[in-house]
Order: sequence, then structure tokens, then C-alpha cells
Amino acid sequence: MKTLKIAMVTMLLVIGIAAAVKQSVFLHAAQGAKTAAKDESGLLKGFAEIQPIDTHLHIYKDDAEVEALIERLNLRGVNICVLDDRDPEFNNLDLQRREITKVRESANGRLAFCTTFSPYEFEQPGFAERAVSQLNEDFANGAVAVKIYKVMGMEMKSRSGKWVMADDPAFEPIYRDIAAHNRTLVAHLAEPDSCWAPPNPASPDYSYYKEHPGEYAFAHPEWPSKAAILAARDHVVAENSKLRVVGAHLGSMETNVDDIARRFDRYPNFAVDMAARIPYFMLQPREKVRAFLLKYQDRVLYATDLVVPPGAKTQDSLAEFRETFARDWKFFSTSENVEYMGHTYQGLALPQPVLKKLFHDNALRWFPGLK
Ligand SMILES: [Zn+2]
Repeated sequence: MKTLKIAMVTMLLVIGIAAAVKQSVFLHAAQGAKTAAKDESGLLKGFAEIQPIDTHLHIYKDDAEVEALIERLNLRGVNICVLDDRDPEFNNLDLQRREITKVRESANGRLAFCTTFSPYEFEQPGFAERAVSQLNEDFANGAVAVKIYKVMGMEMKSRSGKWVMADDPAFEPIYRDIAAHNRTLVAHLAEPDSCWAPPNPASPDYSYYKEHPGEYAFAHPEWPSKAAILAARDHVVAENSKLRVVGAHLGSMETNVDDIARRFDRYPNFAVDMAARIPYFMLQPREKVRAFLLKYQDRVLYATDLVVPPGAKTQDSLAEFRETFARDWKFFSTSENVEYMGHTYQGLALPQPVLKKLFHDNALRWFPGLK
């Protein structure tokens, strides 16, 4: 009897403790979520105060709530057209030019427009004249930049079977026209090193190549090397010293800031945006990245590569915008820990004047059409 009583008391006690623990875990989780939300809104306040400009966005949906968030965050951006004949979402240039201009109007001009041209007809007579006339029409319509894409070097071939690189003479009149109009060339050429490497679940790009096997160079050993593609890019930058070139995605030199620094030293007309490559700053030694950003504080542009496809769910887009901007701001402006892919990285705590350049001033200097 006594033993049973003790057992019952013990059992009740255990149930009681379990309930208390459960309640406290629940309270902790709720408090955690509340603190996280408070942290996020605090970070976004700091972000908004710097008058941020995101120089690499793809917003193709005219969405009042997304636009309201952009307004609240005091955000401006460069909204970029992409043309890729392999991707049904990105294979219609006229449609994109129309969508992106519409988004610009409804976002009260906060999202400037970066156009592109179709490079695929480069061997047809009159190619450059037609491309130039379309671009000039877009410049007249306020386009601040022109994008070229990785299909040069990773997809396009000439009739004679040669890979077509960004420095093909067919594109030269186009580069000269962009420079003559004082617009900027955004060059997304090549891909991260991981595109040429065997699958590695620890890589920030692992899931991208799993979902886009057609863009995975490792599976296509016949494609040009990354070094050859970047050499062609460098050649364009060197041959067009009057043309401002912004290398998208850290100029595809994401694993070592020294590679970027070497180009900066060689080419005063070259800068990089950090779209979708901020994790690669986290993966390099903190002091090295910090020293690089301090030294080249005029040449690196804040950018995210956030995408809002025409059919996007508003709530998902809003959450992604808030989360991305808050995490990025925390990483650059504080020395607090930032979580990414299960790892913890310490923030760079950059000085305010440098933050102002990365998040605002540099965008205006490298995209003079931005108002
Ligand atoms: Zn992009």
C-alpha cells in the first residue's frame, strides 16, 4: 500500500513536473518568437535608416503589399530583367520589360529598371543595330543598366561550334552604346566554383544545382572552364574603360576576396554586387573580409537577388524580404552572431560611414541613372 502510495505520489509529481516543463518550453518558444520578431523589427529599423538600395532584385509581380513594405523600409532598388531561353519563366523579354516597367510605376519609381537584350541572334545580319536600338528605347524609358547573362560562356555556341564568350566582337558595339549613354553593364558571367565541383550538401548552392541540373557545369565537362569565362569578362572590362561594369554575385569570385581585390586594383571601372553571395563572406575569415570591405568600400554594392515571380504568394515574399534584410543588416552592422545553414558567424560591425557606402552611396555612383 505504502509503496503504491509513494509510487502514485511520484507519478503525480513527474506528471506535474512534465507539465510545468512543457509549459515553460512553450512559454520559452513563444518568448523566443516574440524576441526574434522584436529583433527583426529593430534590425529593419536600422536598415531603413540607412536609405538602403538593393542593386539586384527580380520583382515581376505588381503586389501592393510588397510595395508597401518596400516603402516602409525606405528601400530602393535595381530591378533586373533576365533572358534565358532554357527557362520558361525567363524566356520572354518583351513581357518582362513590360512587367518590370509596370512594377516601377506602382512602386513610385523606387525600383529602377535594368534591361537586357537577346544575345542569341548574334550571328544574324544587323544583330548589333537591332539590339542597340532596343536598348536606346529602354534608356529613353529610364533603364539605368543592361544585364548580360551566363548563357555567354555556358550555353551559346557559334554556327561553327565555338563557345560564345562575353568578349565576342559581335557584342562590342552594344558595350560601346551602353558607355555612350552613361549606363551601367551588369555582368552575371560564370557561376560559383561549386558549379564546377562535385555535389556537396555543405555548399550554399547545393540545392540550386540539384534543381537546375542543366546549369551544373560539373555535369558538362565539355563546357569552358570558369577561368576562361572570367578572362573573357575581364577582357570586356579592360577594353571598355569608359564602361562601368558591375560584376553580379561578387563577380563570380565568391570564395576569395583577394580575387576580387586583384580586379579592383587592375580595373577602376569595375565593381561587384553581393547578390546571393553574402554567405560566402561568412565562410571566409572574418578579419580578411572586414579588411577587404574597408579597403574597397567604394566598390562593393549591397544586393540580394530576391525574386518575386508573377505568381508569388504575397505572405512568402514579405517574410523572405524581412528575414533577408534583417539578417544581412545584422551581419554587416553588428558584431552579433548570425545563423546560416546550421552554422554561427560573427557579424562584421562595419563603421557607419562604410555601411552608408555599401548600402546607399555606391549604388548611386555605379548606377548614375538611379535618382
Ligand atoms: Zn539575379
